[in-house]
Amino acid sequence: MSFLEYAPAPESRAILSLRDSYGLFVGGEFTDGHGDPLDSISPADGSRIAAFATADAADVDAAVASARRAYDKVWSRMPGAERAKYLFRIARIVQERSRELAVAESLDNGKPIKETRDFDVPTAAAWFFYYAGWADKLEYAGLKHPRSVGVAAQVIPWNFPLMMLAWKIAPALAAGNTVVLKPAQTTPLTAMLFAEIVQQADLPAGVVNIIAGAGETGKALVEHDDVDKVAFTGSTAVGRSIARSAAGTRKKLTLELGGKGANIVFDDAPIDQAVEGVVNGIFFNQGQVCCAGSRLLIQESAHDEFVERLKRRMETLRVGDPLDKNTDIGAINSAAQLARIEELTAAGVNEGAVSWAPECSLPDEGFWFRPTLLTGVSTSHRVAREEIFGPVLSVMTFRTPAEAIAKANNTPYGLSAGVWSDKGSRVLSVADKLRAGVVWTNTFNKFDPTSPFGGYRESGYGREGGRPGLLSYLTEEKK
Ligand code: NAD
Repeated sequence: MSFLEYAPAPESRAILSLRDSYGLFVGGEFTDGHGDPLDSISPADGSRIAAFATADAADVDAAVASARRAYDKVWSRMPGAERAKYLFRIARIVQERSRELAVAESLDNGKPIKETRDFDVPTAAAWFFYYAGWADKLEYAGLKHPRSVGVAAQVIPWNFPLMMLAWKIAPALAAGNTVVLKPAQTTPLTAMLFAEIVQQADLPAGVVNIIAGAGETGKALVEHDDVDKVAFTGSTAVGRSIARSAAGTRKKLTLELGGKGANIVFDDAPIDQAVEGVVNGIFFNQGQVCCAGSRLLIQESAHDEFVERLKRRMETLRVGDPLDKNTDIGAINSAAQLARIEELTAAGVNEGAVSWAPECSLPDEGFWFRPTLLTGVSTSHRVAREEIFGPVLSVMTFRTPAEAIAKANNTPYGLSAGVWSDKGSRVLSVADKLRAGVVWTNTFNKFDPTSPFGGYRESGYGREGGRPGLLSYLTEEKK
């Protein structure tokens, strides 16, 4: 039972005027698609949102050809300062339409409106503002003679649809490339609203092309011969197959894949802040976050008190309608993802973990999973090794810093980690030994366009954000 009962405070859907069906966005216009159309549904209640045309191989050809024409004729020739104006314009329109985008994203993805309103949409705008600033300063990026790469094929997942789109499109355009982007099949809505924004900003036709579709559309796109750069965010399995297909070609490749981040809490950590950080680390976006702190490593001497306080905090989390402004935890994105979370959590219990979740009523329709704590997890358990991608925290203990580091690094992934301690020297020394692309200290899940993000090992390679994110879209011109 939650400590406080809140009256419903639903955000209105009236701001949205959705079409019944969306085409592909190719050459600056909405066009027909020849793949099987898909319906996007609201994960909160299963209701249909809109139909989306999907791209077959010929549509992919047309989208890439459109990006190539725009690259050759317009975008690669345009002075950086002119490109910057378009990016600033897009950033401002995203801000102007932020409420609408936030409602659409919550509806389509199932995440709480307070996250889309306060995080996803502002972060997307920030990415365009930041990279707009780079567009006329490419010669300061660290290359002798920087040149754009060409046509970028970009494939993104469903967990941060608009934000991932911004992470991909903003640096590509700033560097002078044109793009074909494919959103995930369960969350195409904000990408199509973004296509409208591209029209509103008068971006030259073909600079941005957006095509919906499932895995085969993504495969046709990333394997297309006339693509110069592939940027993929998604699962490690698909990332691996893309790396194989790109090997030996001229394509530049960046992969942002899965993770199994450790949040390490020492017994001298400020306990209330650490509880907040751990809650944010695993329950933000229902835990469907590649860099989620899905493994809690708590120093043995602090275990009982910490778990007690964590449970108390979890009892106050409000699970329910994503469009309610008080909701902390929304719906799981799809039936398939819910089934995966259920299967892995049950496997954890079978292997000996103890599962606990606060009592709370869940809506009858849609896809829901309570925030869950698995205690007594050992490093060999599947829930300590595999990415659950849901609101499930696996708790393990350690005694010494060396043991914490060894356990945190005992994963094939290497995306994120967190360290909580009052002692600065210990924080720095532990952070230095963690094999993760991003280490947060006494905080978690902080993102900024100036700060590079990415992983290594099975979490992928390449960086998004900051100057390194720009370099992924530049090449050294041979003079
Ligand atoms: P997914 O790999 O199934 O799908 C991602 C995208 O790839 C979708 O658009 C999908 O249609 C497309 N796709 C599927 N098969 C393809 C193929 N053979 N060729 C080309 N494209 C293909 O992953 P998902 O279930 O959508 O997303 C969840 C995964 O993404 C998690 O593992 C998560 O950790 C990872 N992720 C990583 C980051 C990061 O920045 N590292 C960010 C978000 C999500």
